[in-house]
Parts: sequence; structure tokens; C-alpha cells
Amino acid sequence: MITLKNYINGALCAPVSGNYLDNYNPAKGEVYARVPDSGAEDVELAWEAARAAFPSWKNTAAEDKFKVLNRIAELIDIHQQKLAEAESLDQGKPVWLAKNEMTRAGQNFRFFATAAMQFGSESHAMEDKAINYTLRQPIGVVGCISPWNLPLYLFTWKIAPALAAGNCVVAKPSEFTPYTAALLAEICIEAGLPKGVLNIVHGLGGSAGQSMVEHKGIKAISFTGGTATGKRIASVAAPMFKKLSLELGGKNPNIIFADADIEKAVKTTVNSSFLNQGEICLCGSRVFIQKEIYETFKEKLLAQVTLLKTGNPSDDTVRVGAIVSKPHFEKVLDYLEIAKSEGAKVLIGGAAAQPEGFENGWFIAPTILEGLPQDCRTNMEEIFGPVITIMPFETEDEVLEFANATEYGLACTLWTSDLNRAHRMAGKIESGIVWINCWLLRDLRTPFGGMKQSGVGREGGWEAMRFFTEPKNVCIAIHS
Ligand code: NAD
Repeated sequence: MITLKNYINGALCAPVSGNYLDNYNPAKGEVYARVPDSGAEDVELAWEAARAAFPSWKNTAAEDKFKVLNRIAELIDIHQQKLAEAESLDQGKPVWLAKNEMTRAGQNFRFFATAAMQFGSESHAMEDKAINYTLRQPIGVVGCISPWNLPLYLFTWKIAPALAAGNCVVAKPSEFTPYTAALLAEICIEAGLPKGVLNIVHGLGGSAGQSMVEHKGIKAISFTGGTATGKRIASVAAPMFKKLSLELGGKNPNIIFADADIEKAVKTTVNSSFLNQGEICLCGSRVFIQKEIYETFKEKLLAQVTLLKTGNPSDDTVRVGAIVSKPHFEKVLDYLEIAKSEGAKVLIGGAAAQPEGFENGWFIAPTILEGLPQDCRTNMEEIFGPVITIMPFETEDEVLEFANATEYGLACTLWTSDLNRAHRMAGKIESGIVWINCWLLRDLRTPFGGMKQSGVGREGGWEAMRFFTEPKNVCIAIHS
């Protein structure tokens, strides 16, 4: 049995209470590790370490920050296989997919290591009266809280810019997927990150997470997770005027017009529906297909989804791994019952899967539903599993109304060969990201985040560096 540790003040340590939570391998449905069940005392220790480290880290030369953050990136790359296997064991995703995500985790550190060298002040001259410049100063101690679907990928997406901007960090991964965060602590020690600059506290959202949000000395929270949790965090943080970045849920439309490159659209739709078991906030779970090509598209999509292998996450030919936890597995199955009660016709899947050798694991067969009204619960609520609905539409105006009909506004994918239509639609879609003829193509310099119930604020590039700094205007008068 593996026992994971917190990482506080540069050392790996047990939680103050001595209590641990069970951590499961979802492919087997078995406990394989113990995770610290940390509370307010552990958060306090982490904050004290971060506060003590801040004056020195803030004043560390940009080039030295670059060196250590870049070294962490190199070590993530060096340990990629080990990290990928740990991620897969913990989360249920295939190892090959986890490997891709570990590449991105390294890129996150490499990208923001460079940002530490390049992010700077703006200045504004007021004719002959004054010159203004904007100091971008680190906030102090900041908190990063991340979810279980892309564990190290999203954990590093927050931590790297927070550190690059000169802050010290208290971070908490999801209690369902703590393993790679624990390995990141070892990497930070190996890289020589000064003690206290990053502190990792494991534990439940309602105790360790809530203690971070309530802590007066943690000046900002960067959170990724569910919309309901985001609301809870906002209600605690708002009276303290704590700076917040909230990256929340999605129920994204994937719109295929008749003039699209059908082969490409089908191939990408398989991924945008079922990659990572559909547990990606950006997955397109509502697929709208223009009437003229509905039957052809459906047939081609079904032919490809039939080929998707579900099962052993260590098998490179497996495309769909296990669902992260028993409660989430049950939630997705409940939604399948709701869909059926709403009149869904199950074209494929629609039930739990029991791959050979993994009969006790939490697997759900890739599922395609049709025949549902676009405004039913199945189409309005985030299921976050390998379940999509396909629906026909006739006109651009009609599909725009359908696409914008949910409370969410994270991402949208459009397939069309008409550039004018693409521009028209992109302007009117209510979402933070619009992909045209592609999906999940990410440039780390671009803003990332959602509108409506999908969140507040943006991550990525300078947006992240701005979030993790306080702008201060300095105005110098010029006397002639
Ligand atoms: P979750 O909200 O249950 O948990 C996310 C994190 O918040 C975990 O670390 C959890 O321990 C912590 N937490 C829970 N309650 C808390 C509280 N009261 N105070 C402080 N922290 C608390 O989300 P999840 O189930 O881990 O992740 C799935 C959700 O994340 C989905 O809704 C998905 O769409 C969303 N997500 C969004 C993005 C995005 O970029 N918009 C990316 C990935 C996942």
C-alpha cells in the first residue's frame, strides 16, 4: 500500500491529525494508496511556510526563477513514464493518454518559466505632463485547487504561472487523484525549488479545500472544478474580497454543417465525445448535425465508435478507460436512466461495461443517444462521462439558439467550409472558446475559460500572469 505525504516547507510530511483517506484504482475498484486527510492545521502550516518563503522568492531574479521552473519541466519530461503510469492507476485513463498529458504538464512549467523572463510593465506617457508605469507585483500567498479529470495537467497549469509571477503557493489536488501531485513534490525537491515556495496539501474539498478558501492570508484562489463548488467558493471568498479565478463545468455544443469535411468531423467527434472517458470539461456532449447529412454522419460515427476498445488502461489499443470513482460512475449511470426516461433511443452503449480481467472496475461503454428534445435534462446538465446526444437541425439561426440554450458557456466546436458562416457564428456563440474545424487545439498564449455558469476569469498566457499579480499604477509628474 502506497502512503502519500503532504509537501510543506520543502519536506514530505504526514497530516497533523494522522488521518488518511482511501485512494482507489478505478480500473480494479480496489484501494491502492492512502492519502492525507488534511485539515485547517495543515493548511496553516503550509501558509506559514509560504509566507516565510515569499520575500525571498518575490525578489529572486527572473532568470533564476526561470532556471528552477524550467528544471521542473525537464524532470517532468524525464519521469514521464512513471508519472503517466501513476496518473492512469489513479484516474483510470489509458497510460498512452496520460503520457500526452504529462507532456503538457512539462510544457506548462516550460511556458511559464519563459513567461517569468518576459512578463513586464506597461508605460503610458501623458504628453509633457507625466509618465505612468504599471508595476505588476506578486500577490503573496495564493491557493490553487484542481479537479480529478486531468490531474497533473491542470494542477501545473495553475501552479506554474502562480510561481512564475513571484507568488508562493498552497495547492490542493483532488482527493480522488492525488498521486501525480505527490510525485510533483518529489520533483520540486529534486529540482531545488526553495523550501516553502510551493506547498501541497492533500485532502477533502470540504475540509482542506474550504480551509484554504477561508484562510485570510491566502490572498487569491485559482479554482477548477464543478459549478456548484465554484459557487460555494465564491460565497466564502466574496466577503473577503479575495481574488478568484473559477474554471467550471461545461455542456458544449459540437455543430456539424452539411458543407463540413465529414470524414474529419467524424474522426474528431469520436475524440471530442469520448477522449478521457468523456471526462473533459471541453468535450462536445451535444452534437448538432445538419439535417441533410444527419443519417450519413450518424452511420459513420457509429461505425467508428463501435471500434473503440474499453478496458485495461495499460493496453495501448484501449481507447476508453475507467470512470474515476464509484460515486461518479453511479452518477453517469443515473443520467443514462434519466435519458431513457426522457425518451432517448440508445444507438450504442447505454450501460456499464465489464472488460475481461477488470470486472470490478468502473467502466461505462461509449454511449450515443438520439431522439431527445434539445432542452431536456440530459441535454442541459453536465454528465461528464462517455455519453453524447446527437440531434438534427435545419438552419444556422436554429442551431445557434440550441447551442446557447444551456446555462454553461465554456467551449463550442463548429464544422463548416464556409468561412463567412464560421465568423458569423463565432461572434454569436456564448462560450469562452470556439474551435472551427478542430477540437482541443491549444496555444498556451491564448485565453482559456468560460462565460455564464462555466466560470469567471481566464487562464493562459498573460491572462494567468495578470491574475496572479496586482497592478500598481505609478505616476511621475514631469516639470519643465
Ligand atoms: P469538484 O468541484 O468536486 O472538485 C474540484 C476541487 O475542489 C477538488 O480538489 C475538491 O477537493 C475541491 N473542493 C470541493 N469542495 C470544495 C470547497 N467547498 N472548498 C474548496 N475546495 C473544494 O470538481 P471535480 O468533480 O473534481 O471535477 C469535475 C468538474 O470540473 C466538472 O464540472 C468539470 O467540468 C470541471 N472542470 C472544469 C474545467 C475548466 O477548465 N473549466 C477543467 C476541468 C474540469
